[in-house]
Amino acid sequence: MRRSIVAGNWKMNGSAESITQLLESLVVGLAGCGDKVEILVCPPALYLPLVQTSLTNSAVSIGAQNVSEHSAGAFTGEISVAMLKDYAVRYVIVGHSERRQLNGETDTLVARKFAAVQAQGLCPILCVGETLEQREKGNAEQVVTEQLSAVLEECGVDSLNSAIVAYEPVWAIGTGKTATPEQAQQMHRVLRESIARISAKVASQVRIIYGGSVSAANAQELFAQTDIDGGLVGGASLKADEFITICKSVS
Ligand code: PEP
Repeated sequence: MRRSIVAGNWKMNGSAESITQLLESLVVGLAGCGDKVEILVCPPALYLPLVQTSLTNSAVSIGAQNVSEHSAGAFTGEISVAMLKDYAVRYVIVGHSERRQLNGETDTLVARKFAAVQAQGLCPILCVGETLEQREKGNAEQVVTEQLSAVLEECGVDSLNSAIVAYEPVWAIGTGKTATPEQAQQMHRVLRESIARISAKVASQVRIIYGGSVSAANAQELFAQTDIDGGLVGGASLKADEFITICKSVS
């Protein structure tokens, strides 16, 4: 039985004041939900100390939006996995499409970041997803499975025993255009089947979550799909009521 998980990706949003308020509401609104669903938020790194203090003894864990593949040294502006650990971070998003597109992160770099996160005992959330152009050309499944394969080649299939895969069609991120539950389920099945060709055991237990304009209105139907184990939520995770409803939509 795979435990559902909902992650909020705040991206580069919020202030000390707004984040304090959001966390206060989440702590109250999500109290007691931890038995049913794993919940985490991924704030901008600068606010990790604030988030750690606010979430102590709550049902909400902490994730990071990005990390360096290096462990220390002359890498101006970067943050290491060990630094994240100092602030109780347990999950790290790697390969988000915004970083692939805006920061030029390649499959190879994403695989290195994935490995660095696991080497320190944290859980990577590996994002994969196709652009609209790739989908319209009929290449969506190939693109997404190749992104996954890049990590499997570097880290091996067993690495997925302590990782999460997030299917995030690029055309659905921040656009209000959600994949239909059928489209999302189809791609989650493709991903699980591609893992099963290497290890049926790993495929049956790995959690694959969906991201792309998840909202309070569509979460329940998406999360009800056989191969969808929760969600990676961007915009809607900045609104306490909406995020709480999404977390409670897990069946
Ligand atoms: C995301 O940032 O990973 C995301 C899915 O964003 P949104 O929910 O806003 O589409």
